[in-house]
Amino acid sequence: MSTLDLIFDTSGHAGLGGEGRVPRVVLVGAGPGDPGLLTRKAYDALQAADVAFFDELVSPEIMELLPARTRCIYVGKPCKSGAISQGDIIQQLITAARRGLKVVRLKAGDPMIFGRAGEEIEGLRAAGVAVDVIPGITSASGAASSTGISLTHRDYAAQVSFVTAARREGELADVKGLAGAGRTLVVYMGIARASALSDALREDGVDGALPIAIVENATRPEERVIITTVGGLADALAHNAVRSPALFIVGDVVRTYQGAHVSAAQTLAPL
Ligand code: SAH
Repeated sequence: MSTLDLIFDTSGHAGLGGEGRVPRVVLVGAGPGDPGLLTRKAYDALQAADVAFFDELVSPEIMELLPARTRCIYVGKPCKSGAISQGDIIQQLITAARRGLKVVRLKAGDPMIFGRAGEEIEGLRAAGVAVDVIPGITSASGAASSTGISLTHRDYAAQVSFVTAARREGELADVKGLAGAGRTLVVYMGIARASALSDALREDGVDGALPIAIVENATRPEERVIITTVGGLADALAHNAVRSPALFIVGDVVRTYQGAHVSAAQTLAPL
C-alpha cells in the first residue's frame, strides 16, 4: 500500500472538495526551528492543510502546530540511502494535489535556499499543478539573530555568501574568493565536508586563524555555539560531537560574538 493509499484509508475524505479546483501545492518555509519564526502565511497554510509532506529538519515544535486532522508524511532526506527519491516525492505531491487535497510541502528554513524547491516547482508545473511558495527564515538568518553575529557588521563585512558544502555530484562547492577580509561566508551542510572545506579555504589563501562560529540547532532550545577557526574546524566538530543541523559562519564578524560558547578550540587573536 502506498503512502497515499494510507491517507485515503484513514482520512475518509479523499477527493472531497476537489472538483473544479486547480491542483495546487504550497511550498512552505518552516524556518530554522523556533515556531515563533514562522510567517503568518506559513501558519495559515499549516492550519488549512489536508496533508503535509515534511523533511527531516522541520522541528517537532512546528509539526505540533499542524491540526490533528492533517496527515503528516515524512519524506526524509532524498540523498540518504533508502530514503524516498526526489522524483517519488514530486509524484506523491502531484497525486495528492490531483485528488483535490490541500497539500503543503513543508521544508526547513527557506524552501528557496538549498531546499530543492527548484526541482519540485519544475516537476509540479510540468504536471499542471499550481505552486505557491511561502518563504521561511533561512537558517543563516536564524543563526545570525540567535548568536547576535550580524553577517554584514559594517566594521567587518560588506558581502555575505551562502554556500552548500554538499553538491549534488558529491564534490565540495567552489569557495574561491568567498572568505577572508571584508566578507562573510555561511556554509550549509558542512559537517561531513569540514576538512575539505578548511583545506579549500587555506588553498585559497585564507588565514587559518580566521574565526568560525559553528551554530548547531540554531533558534532551538538545544542551540549550541562553538567558536573555532578555519584551521581548527574539523577538530572542533569532532571534539564537541556536533550533529546536524549545523552551519558555519566564517569571517571576522564572528569576533563580535559575545555569548557563552561551549568550547573555544582556539582563542581568537584580537584584530
Ligand atoms: N532550506 C534550509 C536549508 C536546508 S539544507 C534553510 O533555508 O535553512 C540543510 C542545512 O541547513 C543543514 O545541513 C544545516 O547546515 C542548515 N540548517 C537547517 N536548520 C538549521 C538549524 N536550525 N541550525 C543550524 N543549521 C541549520
